[in-house]
Amino acid sequence: MEEIISVKKCPRCNIIKPVSDFANQKVREDGLFYFCRKCSAEQSHEYYLRNAENIKSKRISRYNLDPEKYRKYSRDYAKGNPEKALESKKKSMIKTADKIK
Ligand SMILES: [Zn+2]
Repeated sequence: MEEIISVKKCPRCNIIKPVSDFANQKVREDGLFYFCRKCSAEQSHEYYLRNAENIKSKRISRYNLDPEKYRKYSRDYAKGNPEKALESKKKSMIKTADKIK
């Protein structure tokens, strides 16, 4: 019987972690992400911090290319996820309320 690999060492933090701490990535040989979830999150956060301006301006320019598409997308999203849409609406209302204060 083939042994089931249940732990994997993360090359970033050098900690041996259970495979449940690694996200799935089917294209990889072991079907798991290279780094553990914590490191992947940190990495993408670092990436975001390094590229925040870039990402933001890209998003804005994409929006400017086809604003109607994005408006439609968020409408469809709200339709498909009424609870989430309501939640983000609440959040933005709170934000607005904070601004008024
Ligand atoms: Zn790690």
